[in-house]
Amino acid sequence: MSTPDNYIQYFPLEQCYPNQKDAMEKIHRSLLEENLVLFEGACGTGKTLSALVPSLHVGKQLGKTVFIATNVHQQMLQFIDEARQIKLSHDIKVLVFKGKMGMCPLKQGYDECEAKRDNTYDLMEIEKEIILKKQESKAAWDEYKSSGEAAHASLRDAIDEEREKLEEKASSLRKRSCDPLYEVLRAEDEKFQKWLFQDVRDPEQVNDYAAENGMCGYELLKRELKNADLVIGNFHHVLNDMIFSTMLRWMDKEPEDIIAIFDEAHNIENAARSHSSITLAEHTIESALAELNANEKSDLFTSMPVEDVEAVLSILLEVVRDTYDNRFKFGERQRVGRNWYDIRISDPYERNDVVYARFMRRMKETGYGEEKQVQELLGIAAEVGGLLDNAYHEQYKQGQTPILKRSHLKPTAEFFSQYLKLSNNENYYPVLNVRRDQGGEIYGRLELFTCIPKNVTGPLLDSIYSAILMSATLRPFDMIKSTLGITRQTCDLVYGLTFPEEHRLTITVSVPPQYSRIRDDPQNLQILEQVLQDTIENAGGNVIIFFPNAFEAKRHFRKFDGVLGVELFLDETGVSAQDIRKQFFQIGEQGGKAVLFTYLWGTLSEGVDYRNGRGRVVVVVGVGYSALNDRMHAVESAYDHEFGYGAGWEYAVQVPTIRKIRQAMGRVVRSPADYGVRILLDGRFMTDSAKRLGKYSVYPSFPEDERKEFLDVEAGKVKYSLLNFFSDMEELS
Ligand code: SF4
Repeated sequence: MSTPDNYIQYFPLEQCYPNQKDAMEKIHRSLLEENLVLFEGACGTGKTLSALVPSLHVGKQLGKTVFIATNVHQQMLQFIDEARQIKLSHDIKVLVFKGKMGMCPLKQGYDECEAKRDNTYDLMEIEKEIILKKQESKAAWDEYKSSGEAAHASLRDAIDEEREKLEEKASSLRKRSCDPLYEVLRAEDEKFQKWLFQDVRDPEQVNDYAAENGMCGYELLKRELKNADLVIGNFHHVLNDMIFSTMLRWMDKEPEDIIAIFDEAHNIENAARSHSSITLAEHTIESALAELNANEKSDLFTSMPVEDVEAVLSILLEVVRDTYDNRFKFGERQRVGRNWYDIRISDPYERNDVVYARFMRRMKETGYGEEKQVQELLGIAAEVGGLLDNAYHEQYKQGQTPILKRSHLKPTAEFFSQYLKLSNNENYYPVLNVRRDQGGEIYGRLELFTCIPKNVTGPLLDSIYSAILMSATLRPFDMIKSTLGITRQTCDLVYGLTFPEEHRLTITVSVPPQYSRIRDDPQNLQILEQVLQDTIENAGGNVIIFFPNAFEAKRHFRKFDGVLGVELFLDETGVSAQDIRKQFFQIGEQGGKAVLFTYLWGTLSEGVDYRNGRGRVVVVVGVGYSALNDRMHAVESAYDHEFGYGAGWEYAVQVPTIRKIRQAMGRVVRSPADYGVRILLDGRFMTDSAKRLGKYSVYPSFPEDERKEFLDVEAGKVKYSLLNFFSDMEELS
């Protein structure tokens, strides 16, 4: 039996960061006690190893599998790197899992793959039977030769006839099976297993191995999941209920056998929200109706009152179309393009869904009774749709159809049944989306948006053995517990920046609060532009400016473009953020200076490492609240309803925005020797703003240990602060 601190054997480095030992100790204890860990650690606190080391130890001791879920590619690379270091001294089996879409060499969709898989398994079975038949045939022929009895010769002929039939079947199946999977099934497990677990292989290496051997990398990985001690995957592998159950089956595990580590865990709520929101496109309803007509006489439909189901779906289609046609305001129709555009069908606070009301009214006018009757019809339709799916699958397998058809009746009936039940529920928000198709025609889609996804996260976090939720911006912990539905005992850990304090400067500048109503004010613009100009001119390297939105980033970029004698980059839609980042980094790394104009809710504010020369100054302009659209109001109202009035603004808007700002500020100063300046450009950040601006101040929303570093500076003196800081840094170096 190991002693409690045996976990340290998994720590691959010579020395720990100052707080790493403490973190590992507490996490180790919490895991043994089956508690959840909420772990906020600033850059340089060694979060990854602090979580991984005790988890691997407890996992080995108790026969649990450690599952790291991360949505950031850069972080995945870091996990791979750290797992490799651990592997140098410990024989841990690590598997980096990637979705089928990214691994399939044939580029097949989910359903096509399923049908090909079925055919491949059938083919393998038939090939086994053929071998048996050959053996039986030989035995019968040998008997005939030794006995001379005609019965043996007849038996051999009969067996050969059966074998020929099987060969015909096999040859037909071969055309519809999957060769790369066939090769996987024929190969010995051990060879790939040995190669895979010799090192920590990334999915690209697995794909190369698979390609060299004519195999499917995805299937190879799947087979080895049950042997892995540590699996590195994405959020959706855990947050999507169906995918998680499938993964567990492949791992041969139950939820209580899993220790989950969620990286960038402040994003769990959003990720879970998108996994639990559901949609139904107008075209799917049309296809369901066409399916009804096409199969009217099919035996499968005998149990279904086809006319009644047809009436339900036709009225639904009519209501969807009428609703968007009637709700377009003047000029709105023209604004609809190829991206989905939301049309309000329910007040985000009152929840009075007009699609539901119109649908029920039309049903009653047509002679159908209450919702209960509609639900019964939808239940039957979903069941019959399921039977159709099975029939389509069989037809594809048999080669009777060149592509795999899918029932539209089933998803239509299932969606609408849910919609009727939940569209007026506080935790859901119905939206009608519209966009133009290839031919320029407008079509609609009903969406049931989930406001608080704790119905996904709560049961998940309850059922697994334990979990570590880690991020540099996880606080406030009470909120994360409430919004994710955490009911278990937690261990709450916070470790702030440990780098030398003199290597960083955080200033809050006394410019007017950048409320959207004053953004165009000429006086305000003049003050803002002067501070930005002073910042750019006096920064000791690359400057990253986060604006509240893409529009603001563009308009300020235009103002400065060609004026300052430094290269400017604009992060905008249609331009690769990765290319911009590469060029921007290169200039800074070579000792030059460039400016990046980007925005808070874009892709460059999180998971990007602007270390050393890549970024010396980060500026956050305004408070940058996320777009306050109907969905956001609905989320706000759901939180108010669930947690009491006032919680909505705090949980849905204020806290996520402050987290974003903290993430943006954390882009610079990435190691003990690194240095940089963080500038918060809005009066609401200032230390005395609570007194001056009351509830509009955001200063109190920052964790105390971080806000105590804020230094108020007058707009005209920002340049001196920068000059002093960078000259001090030069002296130090
Ligand atoms: S089994 Fe593999 S190669 Fe075959 S279709 Fe599915 S993912 Fe693609």
